[in-house]
Amino acid sequence: MKSIILLAPPAAGKGTQSDLLCKKYGFVHISTGDLLREAMQKDDEMGHMLQEQMQSGKLIDDGVVFQLLENKLKTIQDTSGYILDGFPRNVNQAEGYNQLLQSKNQELSAVIYLSVDYDLALKRIVGRISCPKCGHVYNDMIEENQPSVKGICNDCGIELTKRSDDNEETFKVRFETYIDQTEPLITYYKEKGLLYEVDSSVSTAEVFKQIESIVERL
Ligand code: AMP
Repeated sequence: MKSIILLAPPAAGKGTQSDLLCKKYGFVHISTGDLLREAMQKDDEMGHMLQEQMQSGKLIDDGVVFQLLENKLKTIQDTSGYILDGFPRNVNQAEGYNQLLQSKNQELSAVIYLSVDYDLALKRIVGRISCPKCGHVYNDMIEENQPSVKGICNDCGIELTKRSDDNEETFKVRFETYIDQTEPLITYYKEKGLLYEVDSSVSTAEVFKQIESIVERL
């Protein structure tokens, strides 16, 4: 089973590229942000705690994230592979994930690093909207990613929504958190010979072409 990490700053296109990879190769998309947003909807202690913390743009406790990830991994045994989107976010999570793989006799296949600069990432965040039903991500500010009818999902025909943390203020904290805690993972995985870099400032299709050529070689 292939295990691929997409490593990138916020709004580099991890979600969009994960969806394309899953469609083409039958992989399962695991986004820890999605798992946390799902847990946040619950009317229990963890749900209430997450509602506050997710707004801040800071990272959620490693233990909480691990628990959600492990539960998810248990449900996906018969698949060609999975894409980790938004995990690991720091060296501690990366180490924990290595141990988890070792305990299952599995190996990490690749870490694909999507590089994008701050200004473009901000533009993508501010225009980002998604379908609450199928999760498809659109962007009001980028022509090629707009829905056919403004504000409506092309596939589900329902109204698109905006994530509460997709605003400029929270974005700044998320980007700083990325530089501080997640960026060191670039060197971490480079040293392990697992890192592949992709320029994510070009169109969705061009980014996907670069990713495909990496995945085909795994
Ligand atoms: P994302 O959907 O990946 O942009 O994540 C949205 C928010 O969820 C982040 O700003 C964090 O607060 C939290 N989050 C997502 N993944 C992780 C993770 N692996 N570790 C800690 N916090 C996370």
